[in-house]
Amino acid sequence: MPVSELTAVVTGGASARGIGRATAHALAASGWNVAILDLDEAGAKDAAHEVGERSGSRTAGIACDVTDEDSVAAALTALDAVLPPVGALVNNAGITSPVPFCEVSGAEWDRVFAVNVRGAYNITRRLVPGMAERGFGRVVFLSSVSAERGGGVFGGVAYSAAKAAQLGFARALAREVGPRGVTVNSVAPGLIDTDITAGGLDADRERALLAGVPMGRKGRTRDVADLITYLCREETSYVTGATYDVNGGSHIH
Ligand code: NDP
Repeated sequence: MPVSELTAVVTGGASARGIGRATAHALAASGWNVAILDLDEAGAKDAAHEVGERSGSRTAGIACDVTDEDSVAAALTALDAVLPPVGALVNNAGITSPVPFCEVSGAEWDRVFAVNVRGAYNITRRLVPGMAERGFGRVVFLSSVSAERGGGVFGGVAYSAAKAAQLGFARALAREVGPRGVTVNSVAPGLIDTDITAGGLDADRERALLAGVPMGRKGRTRDVADLITYLCREETSYVTGATYDVNGGSHIH
């Protein structure tokens, strides 16, 4: 089925400077209909409008808290009414937590896992059966170089553990649904220029982190979005269970 007859869902795509918004633009430009699901309903609608205007693709912006199963169910029902079936899911909604391990509370740990892991489960669980039934699907997880290196970018232990959990989630799911035509991959960005990094870093910390990036600069959201769009192509049908580093070489430093 051509991607013009399917919808790509991007969670957490409202953030104006975020990876999700850039990914929504890149997917729409490559022919997908796009649904942006985010906590921020007005932001999701604005983002969808902007993406639709620029690409000519059909789009929808829908309120959704990925941590809440009822909210996910309601968002997908609303989506079903306005856009074609879902052929791709980008699990982008995520939060970080810089709290050092010896200070991290159980509540903070759960908060980080609720969005990054349980949130990804809530929506993936609802969308993958339909993909498998249609014999085509693309799922991409936004992990992090923090999962591979153990912190170091801007996340602490909870964030690194949650992002590492996503890698196991993606690989095991890839194994299960591969025979049904569904690929599942992860991307592991490093320091990308978005609100999540702008808010959590002072200038000294940012300088220190950039010293560990062989490319010597922060990444652009477009760098990540293009890779995700490649993984969602109909033609990218033999890549699954993979993790792609998109971090200026941080993983080898
Ligand atoms: P942003 O903070 O810019 O965007 C994240 C979006 O997710 C926001 O719109 C946020 O909404 C939304 N969101 C948060 N919680 C929920 C929820 N419960 N349900 C639905 N939406 C939610 O993040 P980035 O663009 O920087 O990051 C995107 C992804 O990439 C994340 O998973 C992040 O961990 C990962 N990543 C980012 C890196 C970077 O350097 N930026 C590096 C490595 C990985 P709101 O603003 O309303 O809270």
